[in-house]
Amino acid sequence: MDVIDLRSDTVTWPTEAMRQAMAYAPVGDDVYGEDPTVNALEAEAAALLGKEAGLFVASGTMGNLTAALTHCGRGDEMIVGREAHMFRYEAGGSAALGGIHPHILDVQPDGTLPLEAIRRAIRGDNDHFPRTRLICLENTQGTIGGIPITAEYTAQVGALAREHGLKLHIDGARIFNAAVALGVPASQLVADADSVSFCLSKGLCAPVGSVLVGSHAFIRRARRVRKSLGGGMRQAGVLAAAGLVALRTMIDRLVEDHANACALAEGLAALPYIEIDGSRVRTNMVFFDLAQDAPIAPAALADRLRHEYHILLRPYPGYTHKFRAVTHYWVTRAHIEQTLEAMRALLT
Ligand SMILES: *Cc1c(COP(=O)(O)O)cnc(C)c1O
Repeated sequence: MDVIDLRSDTVTWPTEAMRQAMAYAPVGDDVYGEDPTVNALEAEAAALLGKEAGLFVASGTMGNLTAALTHCGRGDEMIVGREAHMFRYEAGGSAALGGIHPHILDVQPDGTLPLEAIRRAIRGDNDHFPRTRLICLENTQGTIGGIPITAEYTAQVGALAREHGLKLHIDGARIFNAAVALGVPASQLVADADSVSFCLSKGLCAPVGSVLVGSHAFIRRARRVRKSLGGGMRQAGVLAAAGLVALRTMIDRLVEDHANACALAEGLAALPYIEIDGSRVRTNMVFFDLAQDAPIAPAALADRLRHEYHILLRPYPGYTHKFRAVTHYWVTRAHIEQTLEAMRALLT
């Protein structure tokens, strides 16, 4: 990359190995189930997450939407975090396209929805109420800092769901960041989930795509929903080939991104006018605030980083003084040092 792009891990380019694999991928018509590379990706993704089957989808948003529409009918209710991507950043798709009523709960600083709040949110049998069908968790919880949530907590939510005949979906866009940070296999973090969606295109560097996994029966129904959303792709093996490289080679190295995030947080904490809680840097995200009395305004800081240092880092959308830096494959330790040098120059 010709810039240091800390805006998100969605900006990652495919690696050289991915471009090679894409060029020579065996392909077929995936709507007929005949693309060997897509089939291999779906099988490997399912195995990695301990589920029976997988479904390659165009994006994380499509994975979550397909899951919600497969689990819920019109007028059904899903319990979801107010800070969750599914509620905040998916254009209201589950309501617009599925008629699904969201029941919003506040996400705690540790990324969880309180068990008691979930229990209270589950509707009784009464003509006045929508029917509760689905509980959605997010791991890592992105908007509050990329916080990983534990297998123990997820198991408790899974038990609650089973007790009430509900389904559990995990938006695991960054589930492998959570697994690496917690030192447990991703399959353990989603053992209690009926469905999981994860992104190939963020820290894992594939150019496009997510995989939705679950039981054979769930994925069979989800395939039809994906088709109805326009997501039945044909020679998609060209894309899935990069996903296979991602699964086989890009997961374990996420520790480097986490170490770089820690290094960035430590360096920032030593700078004037920066407010940061380093204890909240758990994976590849660093949130920090620029003090109100800083000698430079947030927008001007972002502008000067871009134009004078080729560093892309900007206020978090919806906030004025809060920044989010995300580390990934294309951000090296040297880039972290350069970023800290630039910030020091602009703040002192
Ligand atoms: C990025 C993200 C998604 C959606 O992924 P897209 O591929 O951008 O649609 C869903 N959930 C979370 C938590 C994400 O961070």
